[in-house]
Amino acid sequence: MLDSIASADLVPAEGSVWKHLLPRIHRVSQRFGFHRIETSPLESAGCYPRGLVNSETGIFLEAFSSKKFGLKSQNFLSILRAYAENRIFEREKVTKWYCIEPSFTVEKNVLSPLYEFGLVSFGDPSPISEAHLIISIKNLLEELGLHHPMFEINHKGCEACTPYYREVLARFLQDNQSALCDACQEITSSSCGGRETARTDMEEVFACPNRVCQEILNSAPQILDYLDSPCNKQLTSLLESLDELEVSYQLNPRLFGNSWLSCVVFRVNVSSSVSEGEGTTPLSIGGRYTKLASKMIGQDMPALAFFVPLHAVAQMVEAQGDLEKPEKTADVFLINLGELAAKKSLRLFTELWKNNISVTEHFGENGIKNQFKLAEKKGCALALLIGQKEALEGSVILRDIRSGIQEVFSYDRIIEEIRKRLQD
Ligand SMILES: [Zn+2]
Ligand SMILES: [Zn+2]
Repeated sequence: MLDSIASADLVPAEGSVWKHLLPRIHRVSQRFGFHRIETSPLESAGCYPRGLVNSETGIFLEAFSSKKFGLKSQNFLSILRAYAENRIFEREKVTKWYCIEPSFTVEKNVLSPLYEFGLVSFGDPSPISEAHLIISIKNLLEELGLHHPMFEINHKGCEACTPYYREVLARFLQDNQSALCDACQEITSSSCGGRETARTDMEEVFACPNRVCQEILNSAPQILDYLDSPCNKQLTSLLESLDELEVSYQLNPRLFGNSWLSCVVFRVNVSSSVSEGEGTTPLSIGGRYTKLASKMIGQDMPALAFFVPLHAVAQMVEAQGDLEKPEKTADVFLINLGELAAKKSLRLFTELWKNNISVTEHFGENGIKNQFKLAEKKGCALALLIGQKEALEGSVILRDIRSGIQEVFSYDRIIEEIRKRLQD
């Protein structure tokens, strides 16, 4: 039974974090070649392979589960379902999508929509696609005003090299079992016995927060020493790309993420201080989901994904981002005064768009001075002003925002003039 629904609206009001965040996320994601995907909030069990629909993937919320329909609880799974259902892989070799979508959880009878931001890429197994995802995330976080995004990187190995590593790790864990905490002991005994039904990966011990466990694990065998040559090559090539792109990273052989992640896995951290390396806060984990995607699609499908709860990003941006940083929304800011001018201005607005000149308008009577300030805040290079006099004469005042110099042009010549100025 549900008692209530938590609110989770993203309201882009003036001065709010969402007004700062949302346009930047869209712009940077699109600049890096990701297209927006929107999936239905409703999911049906029949669309998922058996074995994927369980309490761990949590596709189906208790309150809705009797009919095997439910609200989506993970956007990545819904995106995978949409990718498979629409057979996108038959039409596109590489597909890059981003989403800003709610997922749903129920806790203590409260249904909570939780907005997630995610970047996914299908079809490209190369280390370049991994570097592309990482540089997209880095650029986005910097654009949001977050300090020094830093990536921890690991390679989990492949089906050829992981089994031997697991044998060695299992031996190590068994030798040290009595000293480990209860949770790690349980992981050790359930996953080291060679039982195929083990519900956990033994690498999960590396995520244990217990200090004693962490000290013991300091001397545990490291996956990086057990990678075979293809895995080594892949990792080296990714790191070379990151060096070239000047992305700061650290190798972290203890980072494994969830059991659906395979091969390359990374964790994004941001610094809570302007100085690099100080007070690092982990944001989220991403990486290769080829195993999961292939299972869902029924054929080998390279996949990469990074998801982060949007409210976590918002909190960080509020704590350290610069919300006043002007957002360049358009090249031209259009101002009109009076009814006749408003009509002319609307016509000019559509003509500018038709000519591929990005334009924004302000409605409201704030006074000319304030409107020019707003144009500057929005990062516009030029402002156009049509008053009653100009509307009657068929002219437009053009103001260079930076220099403040104004000139009058006839309506017929204005598009040409703007084009010329934007090119300079
Ligand atoms: Zn391998
Ligand atoms: Zn432990």
